Amino acid sequence: MTDEIRKITEKLIRRRALTVAEYERLLTERDAELYEILKAEAIRLRHRIYGNKIFIRGLIEISSFCKNDCFYCGIRRSNSNCERYRLTPEEILSCCENGYTLGFRTFVLQGGEDAFFGDDLLCELIKTIKEKYPDCAVTLSLGERSEDSYKRLFEAGADRYLLRHETADNGHYARLHPENMSFENRKNCLEVLKKTGYQTGCGMMVGSPFQTYKALAQDLKFIEEFQPDMCGIGPFISHKYTPFKSEKNGDAELTCFLLALVRIIKPDILLPATTALGTIAENGRKQAIEASANVVMPNLSPLDVRSKYSLYDNKLHSGSESADNLNSLKKAMKEIGYEIVCDRGDIIKQKEN
Ligand code: SAM
Repeated sequence: MTDEIRKITEKLIRRRALTVAEYERLLTERDAELYEILKAEAIRLRHRIYGNKIFIRGLIEISSFCKNDCFYCGIRRSNSNCERYRLTPEEILSCCENGYTLGFRTFVLQGGEDAFFGDDLLCELIKTIKEKYPDCAVTLSLGERSEDSYKRLFEAGADRYLLRHETADNGHYARLHPENMSFENRKNCLEVLKKTGYQTGCGMMVGSPFQTYKALAQDLKFIEEFQPDMCGIGPFISHKYTPFKSEKNGDAELTCFLLALVRIIKPDILLPATTALGTIAENGRKQAIEASANVVMPNLSPLDVRSKYSLYDNKLHSGSESADNLNSLKKAMKEIGYEIVCDRGDIIKQKEN
């Protein structure tokens, strides 16, 4: 580790902000010593705010229909091999009932951009969930919608919204998505979500095709400026029925390095140990927690649809990725010194991060 990298690291820890060029240098010149320093600081910060608590969310994958055609995604519109399904409101409520009994106090409704889930239906569903489980939070992850739609869903009771920005580099965004999608629009949706009052999450894939260290540095700058409440960071994993079928998968080590950096940029952030990380590395979840992740999102979807929500090849949905195995997750976390807590797990906002 050079003196200059040491100085940049000290500046990051002091100011929680760097230039894009400085972020890029940390990424390109990273070594084991730098990673250890960042991890220690990230863990210290997380501990100061959240102690040894790990929050859980029950993930319900409500639809594999999607009008979008993102080049990396297994449920993209053009994948005619994808088995499409959508859950009925009754099925979603039954997932919540099961989740509540297991101890989940946040339900994440995620899906492709499926017009079937219009505002009226979703508002009814959110209201019913909140009436039945007033002590629970509802998180939505349903892609780009209008400002009016985001408002209506918030007024119906949704608490949080996850919308990964995917990449903060316009040119890179254009190589991952068809022409009708843009980083500008994604960013605009994120601004609207925040302004509406949601706890808002962005995030990106690590190692997606054509990604450069500069693009990742721009992601870090975007996170620093946007100040999200949550940030989903997981490796890209190829899917056999997409244009990126032959592309290399992202890297677990770089993903964890970014988790630690993001924690230092925004100490109170909620950072999930993603399923994608668990899929590419055997102890991916443990590595993420040890790089300061503090959220896990086991799968609560009905068993018969889980393999159909195939975003990338070999996506995990059993074992401790399954909500039914919460006890084994609790045990695994306890073994490394952490405690799974059964509450909403809201962000604990720090005035001065
Ligand atoms: N439609 C919603 C949206 O666009 O935000 C939610 C569903 S979308 C499938 C959820 C996330 O899956 C995306 O934001 C993307 O980062 C991730 N994803 C999709 N394909 C992936 C792949 N091949 N490897 C890793 N992550 C992927």
